[in-house]
Amino acid sequence: MRTILTFLLLGCLSAFSNETSAEIYHSLQKVHSLKRVLYLAAHPDDENTRALAWFSLEGKAETAYLSLTRGDGGQNLIGDELSESLGVLRTQELLAARSHDQALQFFTRAVDFGYSKSAEETLDKWGKDEILSDVVRVIRKFKPDVIITRFPPDKRGGHGHHTASAMLAIEAYSKAADPTYETDQVAEFGVWQTDAVYWNTSIWWDKELDEKAEGNSEYIKKDIGGYDPLLGMSYNEIGTIARSQHKCQGFGAVIERGSRVEYFEHLEGTKLKNDFFENNNRSWSTLISADFEREFNLALTNFNFVEPWKNVPLLVRLRNQLSSIYGTPYAGIRDEKITQLNEVILNCLGLHINILTDDYAYVKGEDFEVNLEAINRSGLPVSIVAVNDREISLQLLNNEVVSHSMTVNNTAKLSTPYWLEKEFGTLFQVPKESLIVDAENKPTFNHKLTLSVEGKQFSVTIPVIKKWRDPSYGERQRETISAPDFSVNFDQPTAILQKGTGTTIRLKVHSFKDELNEEIALKAPTGWSVVPANLKLENLKKHQEVWYEVQVKPTQNAANGNLEVLTSIGKSTYAYNEITYDHIPTQVIFQPAKLRCVALDAKIIPGKVAYIKGAGDAVPTAIEQLGFDVSLFEVEDLATIELSNYQTVVMGIRIYNVHPELRNFESKLDTYVKGGGNLIMQYNTASRSGGNEYGPVPFSVTRKRVTEEDAAVTFLAPKHDLLNKPNKITPVDFENWVQERGLYFAGHWDARFDPILSWHAKGEDPQKGALIVAKHGQGRFIYTGISFFRELPNGVEGAYRLFANLLSYKP
Ligand SMILES: [Zn+2]
Repeated sequence: MRTILTFLLLGCLSAFSNETSAEIYHSLQKVHSLKRVLYLAAHPDDENTRALAWFSLEGKAETAYLSLTRGDGGQNLIGDELSESLGVLRTQELLAARSHDQALQFFTRAVDFGYSKSAEETLDKWGKDEILSDVVRVIRKFKPDVIITRFPPDKRGGHGHHTASAMLAIEAYSKAADPTYETDQVAEFGVWQTDAVYWNTSIWWDKELDEKAEGNSEYIKKDIGGYDPLLGMSYNEIGTIARSQHKCQGFGAVIERGSRVEYFEHLEGTKLKNDFFENNNRSWSTLISADFEREFNLALTNFNFVEPWKNVPLLVRLRNQLSSIYGTPYAGIRDEKITQLNEVILNCLGLHINILTDDYAYVKGEDFEVNLEAINRSGLPVSIVAVNDREISLQLLNNEVVSHSMTVNNTAKLSTPYWLEKEFGTLFQVPKESLIVDAENKPTFNHKLTLSVEGKQFSVTIPVIKKWRDPSYGERQRETISAPDFSVNFDQPTAILQKGTGTTIRLKVHSFKDELNEEIALKAPTGWSVVPANLKLENLKKHQEVWYEVQVKPTQNAANGNLEVLTSIGKSTYAYNEITYDHIPTQVIFQPAKLRCVALDAKIIPGKVAYIKGAGDAVPTAIEQLGFDVSLFEVEDLATIELSNYQTVVMGIRIYNVHPELRNFESKLDTYVKGGGNLIMQYNTASRSGGNEYGPVPFSVTRKRVTEEDAAVTFLAPKHDLLNKPNKITPVDFENWVQERGLYFAGHWDARFDPILSWHAKGEDPQKGALIVAKHGQGRFIYTGISFFRELPNGVEGAYRLFANLLSYKP
């Protein structure tokens, strides 16, 4: 449980502390086991961490969670990361969860593109062939006895990604065993016949499940709440701690102890009686030899807890015999077991090894010093006899820190998540086939150390890290990375400007080397002016950051596109982003430096707009970009502001959900509208328990939404000012929207309302409640579930033009 970094760094050996004898013994039991389980679902947080902990720690099965996506499409409760950065954060949260339940983690190339209503839409967007191939790859590589899905393969799954995950599990179950399917994979891993596919159902799906499952051969029922004295915890306790790692999704959980029943319903393959491994007849005798099996059993029965290093000579012998497993099918299992046994041996020796650098970043081609630091806390003499196959001689005597410096040349490529190296849409473009399904990059810098114990040699791989003292925290560590000479970050991702209007953009250059001298060129899209177009970087020191300002302006014939930053020889430069939280290792992302430029052609009737903040959105920035004079207010400010000074008042998204005290100001808002004001309410979520009626003119909010961002639009009131003034809205304005049309549409509304437009997802009824407007006294009230909060920051021009009409609306 303590070797957190071990799991985070892909089985490489580095840890803050060594395991206790009980934990080592537990790990050794797991190395001995040849049972294997694959849990399969769609997102980070779908996995049942309690079941994973039970399979992995009680069952001692090698357990893996395959999450089809990295969760790029969701919200973030703890920070600013969204889309692919959120996917990187959630990948690490999954790995943090796995460090507790001690399962492995896999992914496919599927991008989480947001909510999807059906499996068909989902598979269409991802490309079914690619994702099926990835799922089969995981099965052939990992070789599970059984596959467990979190969702049923039908509509009950709800989210299209969920249903698709179970459908893919069933199809991949057969394909993995088919020698004619993806023959390249067959050559690499062999085919694999999994015994069965089961669905980890629960009474959430079916209230009568417990009675139904009793004595029914379709079901396997297991109490997963047992206590493990070696670990000092029960499996559901470990599972809830694992679940709490999903912090950006707000899944911190109260620790659960005691009995807990889980239900598994048969979906495909063999119907098992009561044990997921009853047909598993793999053994160490057949894989290696009867002698090996006997010795391994001895290592367990005679395990010395008081002087664990006394187990080492036998363990090293076993470890070295593992290499004799050869042939395609079991190569993966061999490598996995060798890594695990290495860790057991190092823990038995109380051996702690760090390979440290002074800085956390080095540029390509640079020479840098690394310092190997090792301590042996055992009664056995240990020596390091080679580093990267080059002989050295370092004696590690009991409890003496030994160090050794080496010079390394950086030949590594840029440190960035492999799945973000290339541009992508709904499928990540992976640079090397061998990386597909890997949870994360291997550490950028690694050293292979050959150790000698009692005349027997074996090798371990140690990542290179930087560690330092943080006075308010203690020791901190991070992976040492390979960086470009410098990075360029803009202070905003997108420049959205009305044609003919200029603005100042700031950009930050971070140097990763000393004496950086370079001239960079800013290449703008057609019709945009950038002044200055070249910047001289002069004599920057390592980690020095310099800010520059440039003026950008779209002319009348400006095209949308990216402003790129090139080096003096025309090469791309990179933006640098770090993701830093206490529950994950620091993540770095290098992506081509660019500023998206959007030239707007949206007319407005200028005036003052008051924006009352809701749950938080970037809509006020967009209102300013359109050319309005916008003032931001908190709900409590409504007590004092004079609303009649504003031509339009806009409420932020989910305002009633986060500020129910807004009810206190409803009469003030009513007076504002009656007196001639224009009040726009953006979406509020509908609660299942009621209380969904809002507004000076009554209407109710529903959970209806349109998730197809290209759903066709029908104008119900084509002559209405909202579709004509000052911008004539046409179907072209509904092109290139992102993720969805809108959500939480109005359901019932007062007869004074006019619905303006209608749309619907494939196979569904028309939705008319996305934009409704009513006359009230001298003024107007608008409710809209259109996803302006998403479309505007993404620079969707049509959304700007429509929103300009809403803001300009004059009763
Ligand atoms: Zn999910």
